[in-house]
Amino acid sequence: MTSPTTPGVPPPVVDLDLGGRTALVTGAASGIGRACALRLAAAGAKVRAVDRDADGLETLAALGTEAGGAVEPQVLDLTDLDAAEAAAAGADILVNNAGLQLVRPIEAFPPDVFHTVLTVMLEAPFRLIRGALPHMYAQGWGRIVNISSVHGLRASAFKSAYVAAKHGLEGLSKTAALEGAPHGVTSVCVNPGYVRTPLVERQIADQAAAHSLPEDQVLADVLLKDSAVKRLVEPEEVAEAVLYLCTPQAAFITGTSIALDGGWTAH
Ligand code: NAD
Repeated sequence: MTSPTTPGVPPPVVDLDLGGRTALVTGAASGIGRACALRLAAAGAKVRAVDRDADGLETLAALGTEAGGAVEPQVLDLTDLDAAEAAAAGADILVNNAGLQLVRPIEAFPPDVFHTVLTVMLEAPFRLIRGALPHMYAQGWGRIVNISSVHGLRASAFKSAYVAAKHGLEGLSKTAALEGAPHGVTSVCVNPGYVRTPLVERQIADQAAAHSLPEDQVLADVLLKDSAVKRLVEPEEVAEAVLYLCTPQAAFITGTSIALDGGWTAH
């Protein structure tokens, strides 16, 4: 048993105050990234919100201001890997979230899209971590949260690029955890099931075509087939887990993957 007086262990009340911390969130203009940016800003962090979608970032910045948080938009296409690495310099918290999906059988999967998915969802996180570590190591504290997926732990047909990228991200995250531990830097994957975001909404039509099903059956018969909890998870629920991983109390949670999957991986 630990107690509040155990040396080196923060008191057992979660300290959600991220005042004085700078957080970089990629893919912040939409969905999970937007929820994370707003939640971290609400907790007091100065948030650098990175996305290629300038309009979405503008909306996010306005929402951040309304909520009294500090959100600085930065328009950036993460396929520009040098720019991605430079953008991460000085961040105390890095949330690797940007992603994209294409649902096609392998024999019909366009190789250029496969390359883009791997670039945005695996190589860019590597470059962002590379850019963030010098500052984190210098101060002896840092938090890296990688938004993976159940598809980082399980495969699904027709998602070769996405599943490959997420499995790669799991490996990158674990390696960053091993290297970062002596420097006070944690690296963790968060693995949601299907989240109510535009990425999933766009997928329903694609999945309907791939599985030859009407769109209204896709949610129940394909997306939620393996989830014990028969609903989509909300972006705000994912953001709450991400915030917890950025607290002092989460210092020992590293090199692992936290599933928010309604029981999917219990199968
Ligand atoms: P989303 O489509 O709502 O948002 C993704 C964001 O990434 C967009 O704002 C988009 O502009 C940005 N982005 C894409 N390519 C980019 C690039 N080249 N440069 C900069 N920004 C780029 O998607 P979401 O559902 O919020 O997904 C966010 C993350 O969560 C992704 O990594 C996704 O794989 C993961 N995830 C989503 C679900 C889900 O069900 N929605 C489930 C598990 C994991």
